[in-house]
Amino acid sequence: MKRAIKEEIANMGKRLYERRLNGGYGGNISVKDDEVIYITPSGLPKDILQYSDIIVMDFKGNVLEGTGKPSSEMLFHILIYKTREDVNAIIHSHPPLATGFAIAGKEIPPGIHEESTIVLGKVPVLPYEVTSSKELAKNVSDALSKSNAALLANHGAITVGDTLETAFRRMEELENLCEMILVAQSIGKVNKIPQEKLEALLELIRKRTKKS
Ligand SMILES: [Zn+2]
Repeated sequence: MKRAIKEEIANMGKRLYERRLNGGYGGNISVKDDEVIYITPSGLPKDILQYSDIIVMDFKGNVLEGTGKPSSEMLFHILIYKTREDVNAIIHSHPPLATGFAIAGKEIPPGIHEESTIVLGKVPVLPYEVTSSKELAKNVSDALSKSNAALLANHGAITVGDTLETAFRRMEELENLCEMILVAQSIGKVNKIPQEKLEALLELIRKRTKKS
Protein backbone atom coordinates (compact mmCIF):
# COMPACT_ATOMS: atom_id res chain seq x y z
CA MET A 1 0.00 0.00 0.00
CA LYS A 2 1.04 3.61 -0.49
CA ARG A 3 3.15 5.18 2.25
CA ALA A 4 2.59 8.70 0.78
CA ILE A 5 -1.18 8.46 1.39
CA LYS A 6 -0.64 7.22 4.96
CA GLU A 7 1.75 10.12 5.60
CA GLU A 8 -0.74 12.63 4.16
CA ILE A 9 -3.46 11.34 6.52
CA ALA A 10 -1.18 11.34 9.59
CA ASN A 11 -0.05 14.86 8.71
CA MET A 12 -3.70 15.95 8.29
CA GLY A 13 -4.37 14.83 11.87
CA LYS A 14 -1.71 17.32 13.03
CA ARG A 15 -2.99 20.09 10.76
CA LEU A 16 -6.56 19.72 12.05
CA TYR A 17 -5.30 19.81 15.64
CA GLU A 18 -3.00 22.80 15.15
CA ARG A 19 -5.72 24.76 13.31
CA ARG A 20 -8.12 23.98 16.20
CA LEU A 21 -10.41 22.04 13.91
CA ASN A 22 -10.22 18.89 16.00
CA GLY A 23 -9.05 17.75 19.42
CA GLY A 24 -8.70 14.78 21.71
CA TYR A 25 -9.77 11.37 20.48
CA GLY A 26 -12.50 12.73 18.21
CA GLY A 27 -12.75 12.70 14.45
CA ASN A 28 -11.52 10.47 11.66
CA ILE A 29 -9.90 10.91 8.25
CA SER A 30 -9.97 8.70 5.17
CA VAL A 31 -8.77 8.59 1.56
CA LYS A 32 -10.05 6.30 -1.20
CA ASP A 33 -7.49 4.96 -3.66
CA ASP A 34 -7.57 2.01 -6.07
CA GLU A 35 -10.65 0.34 -4.57
CA VAL A 36 -9.30 0.48 -1.00
CA ILE A 37 -9.83 2.94 1.84
CA TYR A 38 -7.03 4.36 4.00
CA ILE A 39 -8.47 5.38 7.36
CA THR A 40 -7.37 6.54 10.80
CA PRO A 41 -7.41 3.89 13.56
CA SER A 42 -9.84 3.98 16.46
CA GLY A 43 -8.62 5.02 19.90
CA LEU A 44 -5.67 7.25 18.99
CA PRO A 45 -5.61 11.08 19.14
CA LYS A 46 -5.22 12.43 15.60
CA ASP A 47 -2.36 14.84 16.35
CA ILE A 48 0.13 12.12 17.27
CA LEU A 49 -0.57 9.66 14.45
CA GLN A 50 2.34 8.04 12.64
CA TYR A 51 2.00 6.90 9.03
CA SER A 52 2.29 3.29 10.23
CA ASP A 53 -0.89 3.74 12.37
CA ILE A 54 -3.07 4.24 9.29
CA ILE A 55 -5.31 1.27 8.43
CA VAL A 56 -6.05 0.07 4.91
CA MET A 57 -9.41 -1.69 4.48
CA ASP A 58 -11.73 -2.86 1.74
CA PHE A 59 -15.28 -1.61 1.16
CA LYS A 60 -16.64 -4.18 3.62
CA GLY A 61 -14.42 -2.93 6.43
CA ASN A 62 -12.00 -5.89 6.31
CA VAL A 63 -8.51 -4.78 7.35
CA LEU A 64 -5.93 -5.34 4.58
CA GLU A 65 -3.01 -3.65 6.29
CA GLY A 66 -2.30 -2.20 9.74
CA THR A 67 -2.26 -3.48 13.30
CA GLY A 68 -5.01 -1.37 14.91
CA LYS A 69 -8.76 -1.33 14.35
CA PRO A 70 -10.24 1.01 11.71
CA SER A 71 -12.17 4.02 13.01
CA SER A 72 -15.42 2.99 14.67
CA GLU A 73 -17.14 5.45 12.30
CA MET A 74 -15.87 3.65 9.18
CA LEU A 75 -19.46 2.86 8.17
CA PHE A 76 -20.27 6.37 7.00
CA HIS A 77 -16.93 6.66 5.18
CA ILE A 78 -17.73 3.49 3.19
CA LEU A 79 -21.29 4.64 2.41
CA ILE A 80 -20.19 8.12 1.28
CA TYR A 81 -17.62 6.62 -1.12
CA LYS A 82 -20.31 4.30 -2.49
CA THR A 83 -22.72 7.22 -2.94
CA ARG A 84 -20.29 9.85 -4.32
CA GLU A 85 -17.98 8.63 -7.11
CA ASP A 86 -16.28 12.05 -7.21
CA VAL A 87 -15.28 11.97 -3.53
CA ASN A 88 -11.79 10.64 -2.72
CA ALA A 89 -11.33 12.03 0.79
CA ILE A 90 -13.43 12.55 3.92
CA ILE A 91 -12.75 14.49 7.11
CA HIS A 92 -14.91 14.16 10.19
CA SER A 93 -13.88 16.38 13.08
CA HIS A 94 -15.20 18.31 16.06
CA PRO A 95 -14.36 21.98 15.34
CA PRO A 96 -15.60 23.98 18.36
CA LEU A 97 -17.55 26.72 16.55
CA ALA A 98 -19.11 24.53 13.84
CA THR A 99 -19.97 21.92 16.49
CA GLY A 100 -21.59 24.70 18.54
CA PHE A 101 -23.83 25.44 15.53
CA ALA A 102 -24.59 21.70 15.32
CA ILE A 103 -25.53 21.61 19.01
CA ALA A 104 -27.80 24.64 18.54
CA GLY A 105 -29.35 22.99 15.44
CA LYS A 106 -28.43 25.97 13.24
CA GLU A 107 -27.98 25.00 9.61
CA ILE A 108 -25.91 27.34 7.44
CA PRO A 109 -27.64 28.55 4.28
CA PRO A 110 -25.64 29.69 1.23
CA GLY A 111 -25.45 33.42 0.58
CA ILE A 112 -23.98 34.67 3.84
CA HIS A 113 -20.46 34.99 2.51
CA GLU A 114 -19.28 34.81 -1.11
CA GLU A 115 -16.26 32.50 -0.72
CA SER A 116 -18.11 30.15 1.65
CA THR A 117 -21.05 29.94 -0.76
CA ILE A 118 -18.64 28.88 -3.51
CA VAL A 119 -16.61 26.46 -1.37
CA LEU A 120 -19.37 24.98 0.81
CA GLY A 121 -22.88 25.61 -0.52
CA LYS A 122 -25.65 24.75 1.92
CA VAL A 123 -24.56 23.06 5.15
CA PRO A 124 -27.44 21.07 6.70
CA VAL A 125 -27.67 19.91 10.32
CA LEU A 126 -28.44 16.20 10.60
CA PRO A 127 -30.47 14.90 13.56
CA TYR A 128 -28.54 13.27 16.38
CA GLU A 129 -27.77 9.59 15.93
CA VAL A 130 -25.50 7.47 18.12
CA THR A 131 -21.89 7.32 16.93
CA SER A 132 -20.99 4.37 14.64
CA SER A 133 -24.67 3.52 14.07
CA LYS A 134 -26.21 2.49 10.72
CA GLU A 135 -28.72 5.34 11.10
CA LEU A 136 -25.89 7.89 11.33
CA ALA A 137 -24.16 6.38 8.26
CA LYS A 138 -27.42 6.50 6.25
CA ASN A 139 -28.24 10.11 7.24
CA VAL A 140 -24.71 11.27 6.49
CA SER A 141 -24.45 9.60 3.08
CA ASP A 142 -27.94 10.87 2.09
CA ALA A 143 -27.05 14.44 3.07
CA LEU A 144 -23.64 14.36 1.41
CA SER A 145 -25.09 13.10 -1.85
CA LYS A 146 -26.27 16.71 -2.30
CA SER A 147 -23.75 18.62 -0.23
CA ASN A 148 -20.00 18.86 0.46
CA ALA A 149 -20.32 19.58 4.17
CA ALA A 150 -22.74 18.68 6.96
CA LEU A 151 -23.14 19.30 10.68
CA LEU A 152 -24.03 16.41 12.98
CA ALA A 153 -26.26 17.47 15.87
CA ASN A 154 -24.53 17.19 19.28
CA HIS A 155 -21.48 15.71 17.59
CA GLY A 156 -19.38 17.55 14.94
CA ALA A 157 -18.89 18.15 11.23
CA ILE A 158 -18.05 16.27 8.03
CA THR A 159 -16.55 17.56 4.80
CA VAL A 160 -15.68 15.71 1.60
CA GLY A 161 -13.50 16.48 -1.42
CA ASP A 162 -11.86 15.13 -4.54
CA THR A 163 -8.61 15.42 -2.54
CA LEU A 164 -7.81 15.51 1.17
CA GLU A 165 -6.65 19.11 0.74
CA THR A 166 -10.09 20.11 -0.61
CA ALA A 167 -11.86 18.38 2.31
CA PHE A 168 -9.52 20.24 4.72
CA ARG A 169 -10.14 23.62 3.06
CA ARG A 170 -13.89 23.02 3.33
CA MET A 171 -13.59 22.21 7.05
CA GLU A 172 -11.48 25.35 7.55
CA GLU A 173 -13.99 27.46 5.61
CA LEU A 174 -16.88 26.01 7.64
CA GLU A 175 -15.23 26.92 10.93
CA ASN A 176 -14.31 30.41 9.61
CA LEU A 177 -17.88 30.96 8.45
CA CYS A 178 -19.31 30.02 11.86
CA GLU A 179 -16.94 32.55 13.45
CA MET A 180 -18.01 35.25 10.96
CA ILE A 181 -21.69 34.58 11.72
CA LEU A 182 -21.07 34.83 15.47
CA VAL A 183 -19.25 38.16 15.04
CA ALA A 184 -22.03 39.52 12.79
CA GLN A 185 -24.68 38.44 15.31
CA SER A 186 -22.79 39.93 18.25
CA ILE A 187 -22.46 43.41 16.70
CA GLY A 188 -25.51 43.51 14.44
CA LYS A 189 -27.32 40.96 12.32
CA VAL A 190 -26.54 38.45 9.60
CA ASN A 191 -27.28 40.16 6.29
CA LYS A 192 -27.51 37.82 3.32
CA ILE A 193 -26.36 38.54 -0.24
CA PRO A 194 -29.47 40.00 -2.02
CA GLN A 195 -31.46 37.17 -3.69
CA GLU A 196 -30.95 38.21 -7.32
CA LYS A 197 -27.21 38.67 -6.77
CA LEU A 198 -27.06 35.29 -5.01
CA GLU A 199 -28.75 33.67 -8.01
CA ALA A 200 -26.19 35.29 -10.32
CA LEU A 201 -23.39 33.98 -8.08
CA LEU A 202 -24.87 30.45 -8.02
CA GLU A 203 -25.19 30.56 -11.83
CA LEU A 204 -21.52 31.56 -12.08
CA ILE A 205 -20.56 28.60 -9.85
CA ARG A 206 -22.67 26.20 -11.98
CA LYS A 207 -20.91 27.41 -15.16
CA ARG A 208 -17.48 27.07 -13.54
CA THR A 209 -18.14 23.50 -12.32
CA LYS A 210 -19.44 22.47 -15.76
CA LYS A 211 -16.21 23.68 -17.37
CA SER A 212 -13.89 21.88 -14.93
ZN1 LIG B 1 -17.14 12.08 15.85
